[in-house]
Amino acid sequence: MTEAVNQAHTGGFGAEHPIGVAVLGMGNVGTEVVRILLEHADDLRARVGAPLVLRGVAVRRTDVDRGIPAELLTTDAEALVARSDVDLVVELMGGMDTARKAILAALHGGKSVVTANKALLADYTGELAAAAEGSRADLYFEAAVAGAIPVVRPLIQSMSGDRVNRVVGIVNGTTNFVLSAMDETGADYAGTLAEATRLGYAEADPTADVEGYDAAAKAAILASLAFHTRVTAADVYREGITEITAEDLETADAVGCTVKLLAICERMPGTDRLALDGSVVETPSLADVVAPQTGGKDRVSVRVYPALIPRRHPLATVNGAFNAVVVEAENAGRLMFYGQGAGGAPTASAVMGDLVMAARNKFYGGRAPGESVYAELPIAPIGDIPTRYHVNLRVADRTGVLQAVSGKFAEHGVSISTVRQEGYDEGARLVVVTHHAPESALAATVAALAELDSVTSVTSVLRLEGTEE
Ligand code: NAP
Repeated sequence: MTEAVNQAHTGGFGAEHPIGVAVLGMGNVGTEVVRILLEHADDLRARVGAPLVLRGVAVRRTDVDRGIPAELLTTDAEALVARSDVDLVVELMGGMDTARKAILAALHGGKSVVTANKALLADYTGELAAAAEGSRADLYFEAAVAGAIPVVRPLIQSMSGDRVNRVVGIVNGTTNFVLSAMDETGADYAGTLAEATRLGYAEADPTADVEGYDAAAKAAILASLAFHTRVTAADVYREGITEITAEDLETADAVGCTVKLLAICERMPGTDRLALDGSVVETPSLADVVAPQTGGKDRVSVRVYPALIPRRHPLATVNGAFNAVVVEAENAGRLMFYGQGAGGAPTASAVMGDLVMAARNKFYGGRAPGESVYAELPIAPIGDIPTRYHVNLRVADRTGVLQAVSGKFAEHGVSISTVRQEGYDEGARLVVVTHHAPESALAATVAALAELDSVTSVTSVLRLEGTEE
């Protein structure tokens, strides 16, 4: 009877038919995936319905003792993927060319793939998803965004009947570690980054993290899923944290804020969702109302930059190397996902979840949902995006300065919310917080301020997010 049920539910795999797994890469994440595969083989077998058998592991150096039989190791990822006893491929090498070729070869051969490679996905999801579709294989990538935190599957599956309006996250642990430490200690950026490197929170070459590339790749993936629109890394407006100073953290604190590197994916309603009086039919944010220029379709804004957020905002309490993602949907309201966004074991947890799903699909003959990009929403340029700003100016300590400065804001249509004057003589400065204004208007204001005799320098311009105004 059991056998008959198994036969009825399997796509060619019986209960005792092993499912062969190839792991490409045995670094931070791959090592943990291999460990879990071997240590929890019995549980995994029970959860899948058939044993998961490790067929081989691709690495660059086979002469390193990795605690597994040497005959499992190979430098030839392509040959490993092509083996007839490999059914599932777990790509954990990172990088672009070799990983892309290996994944495509696997998918074209009908072998399902699990990957954590956000950089590759942010540029090539379309190509990879098409290959998966062509051979009816699965492509899973939960670990590519926010490590252990389940956010990819909730967006693809749990929220597939809702309309997502906004996804805002802290999705890079290195930059969050640095900014949290600067906030806590008052130390400067360079010293804090050096300490993060010493403690293993930043890589020897931290460029991908501190310049925002890693967060931008994750933002592209999140936006694609949230808005059913293909968004690539090139569509994401990006600024990193390298210009953030101890003074920025100090002035942020003075207005009850901290600074976080945010990945923001936002739906901006078009005029087909505007009422006759110009108001937005559904619950709008102010950003929606200010920039409905394109008419017709909704647009999508995807951006990564450091921003002030009020300390009472849920993301302000996400400290150290932790990640969090807030999803706002029309019917679900606000959901928050929080946890470890990186690290070998946490990331391996997400990889293993995908691997079990892919193996179960092999066993039962089912398939994961494919790519959904039917909406094809246009990407809004950053110049159209209205946000609030926190502008820090060094000024001459004399009468009339405030009037001259506020005049420049008014000339460019940027409304001021608060102005704070600090210090005196050489140390005099003004900190201006604006209401919502388009990026282009703020840029013109800053250029005009820099021309004023009474302004020594515009020391920083940071956006302010997460306020109700
Ligand atoms: P890693 O520590 O640098 O490990 C990479 C592994 O791939 C190493 O075992 C390396 O071999 C092997 N490898 C590299 N190029 C290869 C090639 N051409 N042929 C065969 N093997 C090759 O990387 P990781 O930190 O584990 O990250 C793996 C992936 O997960 C990346 O896409 C990364 O973005 C993603 N990810 C990582 C984390 C994290 O916390 N680390 C979190 C989320 C996502 P050797 O050991 O011989 O050098």
